[in-house]
Amino acid sequence: EQRLQDKVAIITGGAAGIGKATAELFVKHGAKVMLVDINADELQQTAAAFNQAEVKWIAADVADEAAVKDYVAQTVAHFGRVDIFFNNAGIEGKMGPIAEQSLDNFDRVMAVNVRGAFLGLKYVLQEMQKQGSGSVINMSSVAGLDGTATAAPYVTSKHAVTGLTKCAALDVAAQNIRVNSVHPSPINTRMMRSIEELFSPGHGDEAKQKLERGIPMQRYGESAEVANLVLFLASDESSFITGCQYRVDGGMGA
Ligand code: NAD
Repeated sequence: EQRLQDKVAIITGGAAGIGKATAELFVKHGAKVMLVDINADELQQTAAAFNQAEVKWIAADVADEAAVKDYVAQTVAHFGRVDIFFNNAGIEGKMGPIAEQSLDNFDRVMAVNVRGAFLGLKYVLQEMQKQGSGSVINMSSVAGLDGTATAAPYVTSKHAVTGLTKCAALDVAAQNIRVNSVHPSPINTRMMRSIEELFSPGHGDEAKQKLERGIPMQRYGESAEVANLVLFLASDESSFITGCQYRVDGGMGA
């Protein structure tokens, strides 16, 4: 069954991890996908594994307004419309208590995770408003709902994504455009490898075991398990759901 037949999706942070897994699932369900990522080499490799008629790519930094305008315009020029926007690119930044955090780290995390999400919304919503339909899925985190020691820049940025989601949903609800956010616990991607290393330099495996014990299901989630939720929110099956926060967290929020 093709749950996204003939829909056009943009996925930021699409070269790897959750973005890439979501692209695979979207294509399986009949969507055309524009992959956007700052890592041009990996992006090109990822895109090459797909059917070229179904998946295109554009290298862009989501914090750069001109680049965001351009990836939206190129998607419309190539595929004709934008039905689904997975606003997913994000970075974890450096860990440490606020008193020891650098302003540069705070600014870069906010630039990618918040400014990037805002800019994507701004230009994608303009297209969806012309069409009178669309579904946006913003990537937040359990860190967008709960605090964590030593992760203030990341946690603050993901809480901002929760706020952006609620406001955007209200801005466009009457125009048949939906905006929801997803809130994963640790997911088995490269981002967790670097977080493990930040928590416990040289002892990433121990940090992983400790983090997994903190999740009721005793393991990290897999990218595909997040992609399944994103697929539901992207599809017409969720046609009356907007402004909501969805955990995919192995029980962490219980
Ligand atoms: P990942 O590092 O595997 O993938 C992130 C992708 O985003 C990379 O391909 C990277 O090149 C790209 N990217 C980074 N900065 C960018 C920029 N400025 N412009 C464009 N692309 C950029 O990590 P992932 O785990 O797949 O993360 C995807 C999203 O999920 C992030 O927003 C992350 O915060 C969020 N998230 C991840 C976890 C987790 O445990 N892995 C948990 C909750 C939320």
